[in-house]
Amino acid sequence: MDYLPIFIQLRGEPAVVVGGGHVALRKVDLLLKAGARITVIAPKLHEELRALAVRGQLDYLAREFQPHHLDGVGLAIAATDSREVNAAVSAAARARRVPVNVVDDPELSTFIFPAIVDRSPVLVAVGSSGQSPVLARRVRQQIETLLPARLGALARFVGDRREDVQKSLAPAQRRPFWERIIGGFVGSRVLAGDEKRARKAFDDALSASQQSTGEVYLIGAGPGDPDLLTLRAVQLLQQADVVLYDRLVSDAVLDRARRDAERIFVGKEPGGDHHKTQQRIHDLLVQYAKRGLRVARLKGGDPFIFGRGGEEIEVLAENGIPYVVVPGITAALGAAAAAGIPLTHRRLAQSVTFAAGHALDDESLDWRSLTQPHHTVVFYMGVSQLPRIAAKLLEAGASPVLPAALVERGSLAEQRVVRGSISTIAQIAQDEKVEPPALLIVGEVASLAKAENELLAVADEARRAHAPLSNTEIAAVGSPP
Ligand code: SAH
Repeated sequence: MDYLPIFIQLRGEPAVVVGGGHVALRKVDLLLKAGARITVIAPKLHEELRALAVRGQLDYLAREFQPHHLDGVGLAIAATDSREVNAAVSAAARARRVPVNVVDDPELSTFIFPAIVDRSPVLVAVGSSGQSPVLARRVRQQIETLLPARLGALARFVGDRREDVQKSLAPAQRRPFWERIIGGFVGSRVLAGDEKRARKAFDDALSASQQSTGEVYLIGAGPGDPDLLTLRAVQLLQQADVVLYDRLVSDAVLDRARRDAERIFVGKEPGGDHHKTQQRIHDLLVQYAKRGLRVARLKGGDPFIFGRGGEEIEVLAENGIPYVVVPGITAALGAAAAAGIPLTHRRLAQSVTFAAGHALDDESLDWRSLTQPHHTVVFYMGVSQLPRIAAKLLEAGASPVLPAALVERGSLAEQRVVRGSISTIAQIAQDEKVEPPALLIVGEVASLAKAENELLAVADEARRAHAPLSNTEIAAVGSPP
């Protein structure tokens, strides 16, 4: 971008136009529309400019330009037919850091005038960075034909009601409301010049919006790779006005939310007060929904697997708030797929358990059943407890050589897989500095885990198999024996 397009407030600001001919007159007209306090400096004056001066709409200095004329000025324009004078105005303006335009001379200018479509208060400015004013004017004409003539009236209609809407609706509710108004019946009535009906329809729409309750989408975000979101998750993310998201929700997944949706981090910090955090989530869900908003509650993996989704829907039901639950790919499934570990397998495992590895004291896990042969156990949230998990399994009768694998940040670019047995995995994890989020997979199937280099080799082979034949291969296939 060679220029930054901006709109400048000039009402009451002193502006100087050097030159008194018809080019100067055009610029004076524009500055008058913007409400500037204009001084025209020129030895001679165009008769229309003279008339404006007589009516007191501008000040006239019948003199040669002097640099001090630009002291304390907000904007300067040089519109004389002498390049020398124009250059002097430009230099004096630059020395005083006053924005200056020399008509038809971008080199001497610090700003240039765009071509304008004026549907005040709506303004469209088109520029070509000084390359081709003619082209810019053509673009302006095209836009001119696209924009309804009463666009300005619509902008004023909206402007007059902004404060009301601000008072009546929550911030995140406002934009969708205005979109419905501007793009719907009300907007079309204003553009047709029928403001009476537009006013009535607007008032009805506003009171309806105040009464409506919103809804909550409890969405499983999967293990991190955004391609593992379900289609429904993406659709609802695109609709939601507010997104409440957890620590395990990746940025790539958040990027799929509507661009203007409000995003609120509600993750539990390790070591934080989880009860308080969960209470805050409940409060936010209820508050936002009661304001009529569509709230996406985005959770890592699946909302109903170690996600406290159950508690959240209870709260919603108690408050009469409609909700939708969208399942997600739970970390165990995402990580197992990415590490090449089938959680069940005809020969190796007929059943699988998802267990929480962080709360081991409450004896609610039946360790004996977890160590049955042909059984896979996936421990969530277990990284900090690996030695204790291993000890419990051994105590319950598991073989010390029972395979175990850790999948760190499964499905993400930084994924790591480390392998061992239940008697070695805790030490290996410590040596390799494995960190949460990671899953521990225990059972014979864990021996099938692919190490990173093997996964890459498999991917390479797959690519080669699908790659088009190379030229030499084609020659070899195509040439007669
Ligand atoms: N509801 C989530 C689980 C939340 S509990 C789900 O269904 O996946 C948080 C635990 O999930 C973490 O401690 C970790 O054990 C596991 N986890 C989440 N994302 C993971 C990932 N990308 N790779 C490995 N483990 C992950």
